Amino acid sequence: MPATADRRPLIGIVGSGIAGLRAADAILKCEVDARIVVFGDEAHRTYNRPGLTKKRYPLSGALEKTIAEDVRVKGADNDAVTWRLGIRVETADLGDRILRLSTGETFEYDRLVIASGIRPRTSARGDGECELHTHRTLRGLGDARYIHHRLQAGEKVTIVGAGFVACELASLAKEYGCEVLVLEALRRGPFESVLGERVAMTLGRWLAQQGVTFLTGDSARKFLCEAKPSNPEPASDRSLFIEAIGSVPNVEWLHGNGLDLSDGVRVDEYMRVSPWENVFAAGDIARYPDPWAAGNLTRMEFWKNAIDTGDLAGRSVAASLGHGSVTSRIGYFPSMTTEVLGLRIQIAGDPKTSDSMEIVCGDLDRPDQGVLVAYLREGAMIGAAYLDKGARFNSAYIKLLRSLRER
Ligand SMILES: Cc1cc2nc3c(=O)[nH]c(=O)nc-3n(C[C@H](O)[C@H](O)[C@H](O)COP(=O)(O)OP(=O)(O)OC[C@H]3O[C@@H](n4cnc5c(N)ncnc54)[C@H](O)[C@@H]3O)c2cc1C
Repeated sequence: MPATADRRPLIGIVGSGIAGLRAADAILKCEVDARIVVFGDEAHRTYNRPGLTKKRYPLSGALEKTIAEDVRVKGADNDAVTWRLGIRVETADLGDRILRLSTGETFEYDRLVIASGIRPRTSARGDGECELHTHRTLRGLGDARYIHHRLQAGEKVTIVGAGFVACELASLAKEYGCEVLVLEALRRGPFESVLGERVAMTLGRWLAQQGVTFLTGDSARKFLCEAKPSNPEPASDRSLFIEAIGSVPNVEWLHGNGLDLSDGVRVDEYMRVSPWENVFAAGDIARYPDPWAAGNLTRMEFWKNAIDTGDLAGRSVAASLGHGSVTSRIGYFPSMTTEVLGLRIQIAGDPKTSDSMEIVCGDLDRPDQGVLVAYLREGAMIGAAYLDKGARFNSAYIKLLRSLRER
């Protein structure tokens, strides 16, 4: 970018998602006299990504506009920040503090915030195809517009995976009146890696009771791409094939700087990227010391985590420029809510690191009547899950949350 006479520190933020926006907000709030430039390879300012799967849209010609309006985020219209959208940061030289952009320009920074998030994993070749399917994934507004449009047409849809995005997509597709096949080849049911096998099997039954064809193991495998094309089983009559099989952190642009990029970007409890004192990371991409399991690192793909870590990274940037001090370490209390075919699922704490579980109230055979589960590690509660169609055990759940927070 052209040199200017402006001597204020230059802060580059890579990623225009919520973590990047919150980092910028926090720097501004600390009244740092700096120029902040946000780079984003999407064409849009920050939007509410979770909103992409939460609502069915009526048939209309203005689907893209309607979704975009629905997922607006407060503060994304902030013009105290320079937005450079539709621009990809191709490489970073952290030693020389230089970013190389897809426009051919370079950008020299004083501070850098890495907030480039993740992208969906896919089993497709580079062109998104295999012998059987055109593979689709859902991450951005463009993907959402395409998928809503196809679901509106009532297409038969195959969804691979049984995590949060897969289950929300299955719900959405059912709401649109589609015939839905969900394939989970590796596990027994939805959210198994987080909530364990018993709850996962309950959720698998729930999907089936709501009219979704839910297949696991070999029954699922024969519909997948590795099935031979000559095999008549593959769901070739299902024109929409969506994969929601996990994620890949967007770290490629950081290669060659000696960072630990084995699972996102490793940071300390202030979101600093060692050994570079002027580099910070936040959001889905940041792997930080787990406040719930001493000695472990964790990387979370949740909206509130991106908000809290973005805010902390911003305050750390401000402190590194002499504005304020960062006293609070990561205080993120993990909690999230999703709805799968009318069943509300609330999760708190860190159930995936538990070694046992207890049903506190309700019955796993009747999740719609409410079931509250506590997750324990070495006898101490470290997480909770609450499944219900109503709010029968809400006060018991809130009580569990309180004791989790007080740990
Ligand atoms: C469909 C869906 C539903 C979800 N639902 C929920 C939910 O119900 N609850 C919940 O807690 N979480 C949910 N999430 C997760 C939540 O949206 C994420 O945790 C959050 O958006 C992460 O924000 P982020 O800023 O870290 O990353 P992102 O939002 O991914 O932002 C990173 C941005 O950086 C851009 N970028 C990447 N590399 C570069 C580069 N080299 N140069 C320039 N730009 C780059 C990316 O394109 C992206 O725009 C959902 C996610 C999806 C996809």
